[in-house]
Amino acid sequence: MTALSPHLRQATPVVAVRGEGVHIEGEDGRRYLDFTAGIGVTSTGHCHPRVVAAAQEQVATLVHGQYTTVMHPPLRRLVDKLGEVLPQSLDSLFFTNSGSEAVEAALRLARQATGRPNVLVCHGGFHGRTVAAASMTTSGTRFRSGFSPLMSGVVVTPFPTAFRYGWDEETATRFALQELDYTLQTISSPADTAAVIVEPVLGEGGYVPANRAFVEGLRERADRHGFLLILDEVQTGVGRTGRFWGHEHFGVAPDILVTAKGLASGFPLSAIAAPEELMRKAWAGSQGGTYGANAVACAAACATLDVVRDEKLVENAEAMGARLRHGLEAVASRNPAVGDVRGMGLMLASEFVTADGEPDPETAARVQRAAVDEGLLLLLCGAWNQVVRMIPALVIDETAVDEGLRAWAAAVEAGTS
Ligand code: PMP
Repeated sequence: MTALSPHLRQATPVVAVRGEGVHIEGEDGRRYLDFTAGIGVTSTGHCHPRVVAAAQEQVATLVHGQYTTVMHPPLRRLVDKLGEVLPQSLDSLFFTNSGSEAVEAALRLARQATGRPNVLVCHGGFHGRTVAAASMTTSGTRFRSGFSPLMSGVVVTPFPTAFRYGWDEETATRFALQELDYTLQTISSPADTAAVIVEPVLGEGGYVPANRAFVEGLRERADRHGFLLILDEVQTGVGRTGRFWGHEHFGVAPDILVTAKGLASGFPLSAIAAPEELMRKAWAGSQGGTYGANAVACAAACATLDVVRDEKLVENAEAMGARLRHGLEAVASRNPAVGDVRGMGLMLASEFVTADGEPDPETAARVQRAAVDEGLLLLLCGAWNQVVRMIPALVIDETAVDEGLRAWAAAVEAGTS
């Protein structure tokens, strides 16, 4: 008898047979409200009719237009469409299949372009599971332990995590930037530093938003010392935070932007975007791949971007995010086990703490399981898995937000009593 490897941990016992919008139908016939969106992937909801139609049409036309061999129309269209949403400076694109691959592409470009070896990563960041990406990941030892030796040249610098230390945001930010300067003076000199990489909101690390002063501080150091600012928008991109890109909250554009997840509503597709002048510094033929920019994935991505624009999903993410957050804060105010509610747009989380304020993964796990019983699918995150996150599809409406909040209140009650 073959089976899935036991190391693969599934967050819920649900066998999903169908998806529609923000709902998943289980094999048990039950309808679940999906606040996971396939880890923030199904941005336009499950099986959005326009995405389905675009993919179906492309499947019947050309499935695999191998992009280091031929150009194909969906890829040409996608390049144009991304031009409408990317910062103007990022006018050159390279496509891969997953977030990890795109992160590695960004790292390679940064190293080739600068001729410098090191990458600064922000503590608590998650950048993927391939070896280089895992080496840059510091959101939990579960993503690193036992894989050593990991890639060298990774230097960890703080992220402003105010809640963890009981600080205010300003203190946390000042500390993080001072430590960065100290790191550049003591561990990785500017001459050895190719780039700093950061997520606009720490994702797997616990849904901790960065802030304007911090990202401006990174930009200023990058410019001053001649290294690159890479923003990993794999989870925060395509409307998730209530802006098209998470970095728009901070008014700071990166040198390299990494996108994946929500870009193609569930089809594997990722990309890096950078100024053409920078992209030219990658050695010809040094990056590529068999499956990058798959034609069906590109067609689905074009439809996704159209739906995001036509249905005003960025605005919806902001409005529904505010409604959801309001409800989460109300639950937290009634239950001291929820120590913090945070996030941006439709990327929201509740952190569970013990009576002493310590991370409480057991309660988080109980609440997550109780939520499944209530018909609500949720995921955990954070270093201790002590944070329950909500990342519903951007098409969510008030009725579904309120349905989710009712289930959440019941699950928190069940998981903490
Ligand atoms: N970067 C970030 C910010 C992510 O959230 C993830 C996935 N959770 C990745 C990179 C890796 O993406 P993938 O799993 O597609 O390789």
